[in-house]
Amino acid sequence: MHQAEQILKKYFGYDSFREGQETLVDGILDGRDVLGIMPTGAGKSLCYQIPALLLPGMTLVVSPLISLMQDQVFSLNQAGVRAAYLNSSLTPGQYRTALKYMRQNQYKIVYVAPERLLTESFLDAVHDMDISLLSVDEAHCISQWGQDFRPSYLKIIDFIHILKKRPVVAAFTATATREVREDILALLNLQDPITLITGFDRENLKFTVLQPDNKWQAALQVIREHERECGIIYCLTRKLVEEVCERLVRAGYSATRYHAGLSDEERHHNQDDFLYDRKQIMVATNAFGMGIDKSNVRYVIHYNMPKNIESYYQEAGRAGRDGLPSDCVLLYGGQDVVTNHFFIDKMEAPEGADEETAKVIREREEERLKKMTWYCFTNDCLRDYILRYFGEYGSGYCGNCSNCLTKFHEEDVSGTAWNLIGFVKACDWNYGLVTITDAVHGSRSSKLLKAGLDKNPYYGSCGDVPLQKLRQIMNYLAAQGDLRITDDRYPVVRLTTASEEILQGRQVVMKMAEEQPKSVSGKTGTPDRKKGSRSADDLQGDMDRGLFERLRTLRLEIAREEKVPPYIVFSDKTLVQMCLLKPKSKTEMLRVSGVGEMKYEKYGERFLTALHEEELSDL
Ligand code: ADP
Ligand code: MG
Repeated sequence: MHQAEQILKKYFGYDSFREGQETLVDGILDGRDVLGIMPTGAGKSLCYQIPALLLPGMTLVVSPLISLMQDQVFSLNQAGVRAAYLNSSLTPGQYRTALKYMRQNQYKIVYVAPERLLTESFLDAVHDMDISLLSVDEAHCISQWGQDFRPSYLKIIDFIHILKKRPVVAAFTATATREVREDILALLNLQDPITLITGFDRENLKFTVLQPDNKWQAALQVIREHERECGIIYCLTRKLVEEVCERLVRAGYSATRYHAGLSDEERHHNQDDFLYDRKQIMVATNAFGMGIDKSNVRYVIHYNMPKNIESYYQEAGRAGRDGLPSDCVLLYGGQDVVTNHFFIDKMEAPEGADEETAKVIREREEERLKKMTWYCFTNDCLRDYILRYFGEYGSGYCGNCSNCLTKFHEEDVSGTAWNLIGFVKACDWNYGLVTITDAVHGSRSSKLLKAGLDKNPYYGSCGDVPLQKLRQIMNYLAAQGDLRITDDRYPVVRLTTASEEILQGRQVVMKMAEEQPKSVSGKTGTPDRKKGSRSADDLQGDMDRGLFERLRTLRLEIAREEKVPPYIVFSDKTLVQMCLLKPKSKTEMLRVSGVGEMKYEKYGERFLTALHEEELSDL
């Protein structure tokens, strides 16, 4: 067997490499620089961890976040690999000790924060060391075009220049856009690198877009379908995070919250509660998540539409990292566009950017927001839409998104569009979306009557169209550019140059869902699904739920003893496999994906015993 594969099995318990991993591992082992662009959850860490174990010297990993480093180091230590991290979470004493051990070659892998690289103590410590590999994780942080630009990443190249011998340099990211890729190649000065981009599809994720009347109820439905499972709810604003979290707690759910307005201490504490399975639901702004490798997140709800597809796919991608079926549900509301516009307007230019650059960046953001909005309205396969955005092509039908699972019919809504636009045009004042749709629907509310809107010739002209549908059509027109919803504090609807065309008789055809899927997790799934993504229910059908719970309890017990998050002991997927395979011996246990030799030594027996007791109780 190939040496790298042996390491894969021995330390990590996996039988085979995933797409792309082997190419990158081999490239590094051959002494080549590499750039690996793979989606979240694809397994980028192993691409540098395995060479690290085979190369003679030490591997340094630059990583942007403390939580990310801790997670990786915990996992490595659990797998029996000597690794450490160097960042501001260590006391000066701990830091000195770690440096000392590093100098004594006690570690194979050391994670380091970018801002530490050029410090005197660090440079001094690595001066005489043999560094085989420098791996840059989350490498998009080096680019101003990326999501999370970190100026300290620009120091990496200076650090490389200072070293006596240039190590192999490997960079990894999940951001696939061309600008970011080119920045990484240039700013890290990668030499004749092997660049590998793997497919971005995550088959186990089911994508759903809903435009619910009541977001709260829609979210509750998703949560109820995932009882006792972990999930994340993303909100656009801190205020909404607080509200949703409070409501969940009042309704008896185990929820916690995370946003940039909380103290460091509370954020830390809440994040750990979630990672360690002490709390099941994390309600958060986009400040939460980078470096969260928790593998058993079963659903991600977006309570608001995020600002672009990159963010969406990254955040939604935090579901199902273990490869088990998981739900990604986006709850769209017209106000989300407005809020995002507002954020873009308030966006601060990156350090050192001039007026012109700032303007360009803002325009790009607007463009991205548009594409995100389209995602919420498209009737094409949602997976296809995302893949196309990243320059890939899907089959046009995945059978595992709300569009593929819902029947649509085309409807000519020209008449309604004509009335809505006519109403706006006939007003001598600007009104918001709700006011307009109410009036066109013929509401008798005193507010409307006082404003004299019942005098508008289009007042009540769509009395037979349900309000919800009127709003949908209105949103659709705005997304198409046939109307504009301003981004003021009180957003109003205005005409655009395209509005007139509709008044002149241009047709508006909109695809409308014939029925909403009964259940967001696709329990009504059609039999003609193309791909083999089995739903969690299918799997659970084969599996003994009670046994799974008992193994989970054992895992929690061990996690508490070891003071690590449960998924670092074993992933959900590994537990599910144990339930299905019911191993009886060491050899059988080692066949379970995720059980390596080191982990077997530590916990194998206890899990075998638990499985054995289960057998006995079945007799
Ligand atoms: P990324 O950094 O690309 O987002 P990670 O490196 O965190 O992804 O890996 C995601 C998950 O996939 C981890 O739980 C990891 O153990 C698992 N994994 C990685 N490679 C393999 C493999 N070859 N077989 C099975 N599981 C794997
Ligand atoms: Mg990673």
